[in-house]
Amino acid sequence: MLKNKTAVVTGGTRGIGFAIVKKYLENGANVAIAGSRQETVEKALANLTEYEGHIMGIWPDLCNPEDVAEKFAQVKERFGRLDILANNAGISSRTSIYDYTLEEFNKILDINVKAVFVCSQAGARIMKEQGGGVIINTSSMVSQYGQPSGCGYPTTKFAVDGLTKSLARELARDGIRVNAVAPGVTNTDMVAALPKEMVERISAGIPLGRPGEPVDIANAYLYLASDLAAYVTGAILRVDGAAMT
Ligand code: NAD
Repeated sequence: MLKNKTAVVTGGTRGIGFAIVKKYLENGANVAIAGSRQETVEKALANLTEYEGHIMGIWPDLCNPEDVAEKFAQVKERFGRLDILANNAGISSRTSIYDYTLEEFNKILDINVKAVFVCSQAGARIMKEQGGGVIINTSSMVSQYGQPSGCGYPTTKFAVDGLTKSLARELARDGIRVNAVAPGVTNTDMVAALPKEMVERISAGIPLGRPGEPVDIANAYLYLASDLAAYVTGAILRVDGAAMT
């Protein structure tokens, strides 16, 4: 479904991001894993040796426009194009408003929002020049409902939805589609860090009867990146088993 396409996946070293990387490779794309550290990127690459020649690693500071532009240019140089940008990197929070420091609030805004802006800008500049492309952001089911602690996290995901809908309108004329996937509770390190009782309570309320697996989310990323979604832009695609409805 993605033959001859090139994708950058931020936070592609583990969890949902790693599942997206594998799904894109299985479907014929060249993929650049954008991680936070050389060490974790190399560890992820070591698990994908069967795709040698179709995969590379970069580790830019995602909030630094010059660094991101330079690393995206390296991807274009290596594979000839940049067609798909999956803005997946993110961190979560459960801190109470009474304890939330401005430092923690700024950190989550940086990774979950500013990095999406910086990477989208760098990606869109390349995509515009080559006549089009696809940007897919990672929202969350909490962008519908908020959550009872860690207010910085849903705040960033509401912002991701706003950026997605606005960029979809702005970039359509350049042939660039912009959508977001909004996962529900998905079995990754992010969820493993939550108290077991909390995950059990949330899981019990999911009509499809189970938490999501990273591959469930990656399948939505595949659809939105592919030509099957050629007329889909500005969408926030919920992949949450109908949680919280
Ligand atoms: P995870 O913690 O397993 O993976 C997060 C990834 O982001 C890692 O690869 C990590 O290295 C990367 N990352 C974090 N900070 C970074 C930085 N500064 N620079 C580069 N990379 C950085 O989490 P996950 O569950 O796979 O989450 C992936 C995305 O899905 C996040 O945006 C998260 O908000 C979203 N999400 C997850 C769930 C869930 O239940 N797991 C639900 C809704 C949304």
